[in-house]
Amino acid sequence: AARPVLLEARGLNGWYGKSHILQGVDITIRDGELVALLGRNGAGKTTTMRALTGLLPRVEGRLAFAGEDVLGLPTHEIAKRGLSLVPEHRGIFGTLTVEENLALAARSGARWSIQNVYEMFPALAGRRRTPGGKLSGGEQQMLSIGRALVTGPKVLLLDEPTEGLAPVIVDRLVDLIRDLKASGLSMLLVEQNLDVCMAVADRLLIIDGGTIVWEGSGAELAAAEEVRGRHLTLE
Ligand code: ATP
Repeated sequence: AARPVLLEARGLNGWYGKSHILQGVDITIRDGELVALLGRNGAGKTTTMRALTGLLPRVEGRLAFAGEDVLGLPTHEIAKRGLSLVPEHRGIFGTLTVEENLALAARSGARWSIQNVYEMFPALAGRRRTPGGKLSGGEQQMLSIGRALVTGPKVLLLDEPTEGLAPVIVDRLVDLIRDLKASGLSMLLVEQNLDVCMAVADRLLIIDGGTIVWEGSGAELAAAEEVRGRHLTLE
């Protein structure tokens, strides 16, 4: 039997001011699934993540999380229900220490404690008194993921986690994403790195012009040269 649906977006439309960016986005994420969202620069990936987490000024359509209608709820209410965003450019507090960054986000009863995050990222444990702004890019990404985990997510939204990271750090991040998936966490991954998507995703979606234009497996995308050329050509 198919796993239960955790997140279901239907016909999401989203605006920045007068710009109509999302033009009917449909996304389904089932329990334990890792779905990758691909698309060119400006296709609407980050805007989709923001629409799902209550960060877009105007959104219309249907958005259900764990069976509950959450469209229009404020971000903290959505996070409380278990939908947590790891933003592009990481969103950590540069002047606060690693420990303070984690403590601010932590929620009691969450499946991951601050201690669990330190076990998962020993490099962070050694830098718990270091300001977030003094961390390397890879450490900042780990802290950003750690901050999302201690909120107790059921679905984690990862916006370009590998951006700007050295290849060896990217490999570590791929291992971590695999571990999180093995632990049963569902994820929506926005990623420009096609190899990373192919390595971890159960299903891939392509967004173009604010609409999902293709859906399939990594193997299907590998074979679909025409689709890649039309919707993913990298500059
Ligand atoms: P990228 O890889 O560049 O982040 P993306 O697929 O995430 O690409 P979005 O950031 O979602 O793309 O942008 C989609 C469209 O929305 C683009 O045309 C962009 O110019 C526009 N846009 C993004 N943020 C804003 C904003 N704050 N105000 C107005 N328009 C915006």
